[in-house]
Amino acid sequence: MTRVAIVTGGTRGIGAAIAQAFKKQGYKVAVTYSGNEEAAEKFRKETGILALKWDASNFAESVEGVKKVEAQLGPVDILVNNAGITRDTTFHKMTEEQWDDVIRINLKSCFSMTRAVIEGMRERGFGRIVQISSVNGQRGQYGQANYGAAKAGMIGFTKSLAFEGANKGITVNCVAPGYVDTDMVAAVPEDILKKIIGTIPVGRLGYADDIARAVLFLAGDENGFVTGATLSVNGGQYM
Ligand code: NAD
Repeated sequence: MTRVAIVTGGTRGIGAAIAQAFKKQGYKVAVTYSGNEEAAEKFRKETGILALKWDASNFAESVEGVKKVEAQLGPVDILVNNAGITRDTTFHKMTEEQWDDVIRINLKSCFSMTRAVIEGMRERGFGRIVQISSVNGQRGQYGQANYGAAKAGMIGFTKSLAFEGANKGITVNCVAPGYVDTDMVAAVPEDILKKIIGTIPVGRLGYADDIARAVLFLAGDENGFVTGATLSVNGGQYM
């Protein structure tokens, strides 16, 4: 049986690596994106993966988006809540907008997207839901009170939802990446990044493919017994 997967924020970075890893394994895949049309078109041409534009944090748009994916690929079996942003600043300077945007795109998107697919999964008795949290949701980070709250929230969401899926064939898990070499980390000043790499026992940043491998494991048909878990993929940064 060919499973159908949706990856939010999947036209670049970690999401793109996850989508391509699914495709390589023979899954049917769709990605969502929020911005850059040119980049999305390039992604479509290079990968042949269905890429649809909607705001994954908006519930009504997510319901419509999932309908479009299902019309083209079939019922959604796997959801990867990967879309995320940072708006880093020390808390005493943080604006309400910086707080709201980060909570909405990282955390509320988990509500909107998961709520849009979960009834179908329950009816069919199968589902795999994976959140992309962060080491900074597990440990906290200077200048990331908004992001840390959202990413920790994703772990809490995972644990609670895992109870509800457990007897319906639905597993719910989290991957918590350490620092991964993508556009998001390119925004970190070089001197700070150097210091961060010094704290990673493996001695390098993660590759997007390192994260994709963990997601594939958690999303596999054979993985029916790991649920409510958070898998750290961080080069041993915080053991
Ligand atoms: P990225 O900035 O390269 O990609 C983020 C993606 O999310 C983009 O494709 C963007 O278009 C999409 N997106 C943003 N807002 C959206 C919305 N409203 N609806 C749909 N899509 C939206 O970042 P990345 O490094 O690939 O990060 C992917 C995920 O991994 C994020 O959740 C991030 O927080 C998490 N993460 C990244 C790192 C890292 O070091 N790069 C570490 C830990 C966790």
